Amino acid sequence: MIPSENHDTELLAGAGSAVEVVGRNSRGRFVFACEHASNQVPTTIHLGVDANVLNSHAAWDPGAVMVARLLAKRLDATLVAARFSRLVCDCNRPPDANDFCTVRTEIHEIPGNVGLSSAERAARSAALYEPFHASLAEQIERRLVDGIRPILVTIHSFSPTWNGVHRGVELGLLHDSDPRLVDALLPRAAAITGLRTARNQPYGPEDGVTHTLQRHALPAQLPNVMIEIRNDLIASLGTQQRIADGLAVLLARGEAAMA
Ligand SMILES: [Zn+2]
Repeated sequence: MIPSENHDTELLAGAGSAVEVVGRNSRGRFVFACEHASNQVPTTIHLGVDANVLNSHAAWDPGAVMVARLLAKRLDATLVAARFSRLVCDCNRPPDANDFCTVRTEIHEIPGNVGLSSAERAARSAALYEPFHASLAEQIERRLVDGIRPILVTIHSFSPTWNGVHRGVELGLLHDSDPRLVDALLPRAAAITGLRTARNQPYGPEDGVTHTLQRHALPAQLPNVMIEIRNDLIASLGTQQRIADGLAVLLARGEAAMA
């Protein structure tokens, strides 16, 4: 089978693949997904925003992909990471959602997304969203075929303030209708990571943020969690390593509980 991420499209026009897969042949149970890994925009797309917007959490989850890379390495896992900004299309939303190609974030308008035709949305989905999810499905399926029960973990970061309000929570463990893994992780999470931890904070399934879990984990009843880390705590390689160390220990405990 031709790896799905190697599809080339007019929209990507020489910009390379839509998705990066790290640890393609890893043997561990964990499959990490990082939908908001990148703030890159294909040269064929004109969002009409400046560098400040592209460097902000509006465009990506700062620090998240580095933590995910470190976790994948420590746990002999696979990481599937989107290579383009969620402002182009959000791989953690269904393509028919209003915010799949968002026209407004917390404080920014995205002029290039206003009035998109259904054909333009479909082109973004085909070029960016579908390859990401095909790669994720491929990595989950590979494990199932080999008799390995996968655990899906999505890695995100959030901003310390939202609409002017400071967020006290430092680590969010989110789930949709299957809380098994979060139930196993929560009692020890604060002690192991040193972070103020909460269930379904600062977002929850009611905010539409569990699309990847819904699509890949819930139908097959795979243990799953969406991890949200406050981005001021993972702003340097040193802090990313420290947080990844703690999360690796925590997730290994969770894995043992999900036998
Ligand atoms: Zn995110």
